[in-house]
Amino acid sequence: MAKKKYTIDEKVEVMCSMCDVESNHTVATVTKLGQFTKLICDTCATVSTYKSGVKKSVGMIAKPGSEYDRTRKYRKGQAILHATFGQGEVMAIIEPQKMDVLFGDQMRRLIHAQN
Ligand SMILES: [Zn+2]
Repeated sequence: MAKKKYTIDEKVEVMCSMCDVESNHTVATVTKLGQFTKLICDTCATVSTYKSGVKKSVGMIAKPGSEYDRTRKYRKGQAILHATFGQGEVMAIIEPQKMDVLFGDQMRRLIHAQN
């Protein structure tokens, strides 16, 4: 299965978490295999980093979260990086093992402190 190879300065249309729409991005860095690892939004200049084609983090956020780990115990206000939902912030601890996390403008209930 041949994957598309990208080159630096190429334009890619992807979802921008800051603009909240699909917008043109410029490829800033690529791997040896031609997979982009960093894209810059042409509209808002937000830098998004990718790993294996999956968005890992978005730039211009003061405190990038560490990766979500359900065994960890989280506190309100803590930043989280979720493999699927991206960058989020803990809005409230609902129960000792449940919390509401805001990803972009979507609130999601996640579990935490699981042993
Ligand atoms: Zn943007």
